[in-house]
Amino acid sequence: MEIKIIQPIGLCVSASSILDEIYKHQEKYHKIYILGDILHNEYVINYLSERGIKFIKELEGIVNDKYTLVVLPSHGTSPLVYEKLKKYNYIDLTCPKIKKMHEFIINNSDKDIIFLGQPNHSETVASRDYDNVKVISSKKDIDKLGELNNPILMCQTTFNKDIFVEISEILKEKYPNIVINNTLCNIPLDRIININSTDCDLLLVIGSKTSSNANEISKSKPNSMIIGKVEEIDLDELRKYKKIAIASASSTPIQQVDEIVEYIRKNA
Ligand code: SF4
Repeated sequence: MEIKIIQPIGLCVSASSILDEIYKHQEKYHKIYILGDILHNEYVINYLSERGIKFIKELEGIVNDKYTLVVLPSHGTSPLVYEKLKKYNYIDLTCPKIKKMHEFIINNSDKDIIFLGQPNHSETVASRDYDNVKVISSKKDIDKLGELNNPILMCQTTFNKDIFVEISEILKEKYPNIVINNTLCNIPLDRIININSTDCDLLLVIGSKTSSNANEISKSKPNSMIIGKVEEIDLDELRKYKKIAIASASSTPIQQVDEIVEYIRKNA
């Protein structure tokens, strides 16, 4: 069996620096609470939980003292939550690309922003509370959009590129003055380009099934699986393939990749 590791692999620079920031703050604060998923990756969440870091959905119940720190996650935070955060010690670890999107929404508050994203994805949830944002998730939602003031289209950074392009074209017909602001992140797109040029009969994407990034990458090949831990690997199934390509989501740490690759090399 031939195993090809597709580069780049592991965390993107932004995700990596987010984790470094958390470790740095552990020296100073006794209690660290992460508001939501820091990244969509169970390996990271388990690792941080083992180091005493707590994950919370809401601020209510958190003691606000100098030993306690609230961490805002990479996918962004609703403006309604920022209001409540004023009385807490917090650090904002929103990815700079997503931060820039929110600044764009604020700077264009006199225009209607159409945000294309999965309805329950953290990025969509963090963006939908701005007064000028209207969320759509698919072509069928376009009919619900009425008259709009100088509309601008934006999207979740990990949304499907082909659907984004298709919806952009439909919206240009409906709103000839629309501005298309392509906010797709290049990092997963570059990984997809490299996968497309790799010859393999199975693609293994190391990451979490809850990661939209991992899901988009897995669509690059007709035969693919998302694997988060060695227990999920069916060795008999893997042995049916001669050329296996291994890629990862940008929220997957290299340690998780190494554990799985080593297990496959030793056992398959
Ligand atoms: S993949 Fe892109 S949007 Fe997501 S954390 Fe990395 S740099 Fe930010």
